[in-house]
Amino acid sequence: MKKFCFCAFRLRALLLPLGLLAVVTVALLFGGRAAKTASANLSGAMPLIILDAGHGGEDGGAVAADGTMEKDINLSITQKLDVLLQAQGFRTLLTRTDDTLHYDASASSMREKKVADLHYRLACTQQTPDCVLLSIHQNKFTDPQYDGAQMFYSPNHPQSEALAQCLQDTFVAELQPDNTRKIKQSGTEIFLLYQTKVPAVMAECGFLSNKAERDKLKTDAYQQKVAACIANGLLHYLGHKPIEDITNTENRT
Ligand SMILES: [Zn+2]
Repeated sequence: MKKFCFCAFRLRALLLPLGLLAVVTVALLFGGRAAKTASANLSGAMPLIILDAGHGGEDGGAVAADGTMEKDINLSITQKLDVLLQAQGFRTLLTRTDDTLHYDASASSMREKKVADLHYRLACTQQTPDCVLLSIHQNKFTDPQYDGAQMFYSPNHPQSEALAQCLQDTFVAELQPDNTRKIKQSGTEIFLLYQTKVPAVMAECGFLSNKAERDKLKTDAYQQKVAACIANGLLHYLGHKPIEDITNTENRT
């Protein structure tokens, strides 16, 4: 089947000098709520989990036929995942905790704003070498028949592929038994995965272009199951015990 990752922000020629600015910016912004999310949950030797809700603010990501915006579902799943991981004792850091795109006054065009935002997210992964990046997105395709989660992984760390496979396998085992999608290595088209040096996976949780899947993704109950799949995939990757009954997590948001 043809694979098409619609929502990943594709930039062939990125404005890398903005990276330094982003590092400075992220250091300043770490005084905000995202940084507090991490610092409030220090728990020892387990890796810091960077939770990246794709898009935000002016960048809605994929927009469904009914107006559903990817950015909103990304954030909702990410926040549920954050709760689950904190309950398992993980330190977490969210690249955004609200409907925000990170850029400063020097960014005027939409492209510049998106580039600055992606560099901010990348800088979040550069705060410590002992972290794992989970980037949460939704897919969209011209043909509405396609559905199902698919994981994309960074080419830069040998563990990224294993992490992606753990997440993909967990989706199949716990939520989507008919899902035959294969994990895929990111190229330059997915900036964050291509640039980060830490174990990193982008979870395309489902297709907003498929009405049945979209209708599920819009519900808290299904978002919770998706979050639990991602959490359990991570736990499996780290050799930890999974959350045994994901249906019991539906009221934990
Ligand atoms: Zn996206």
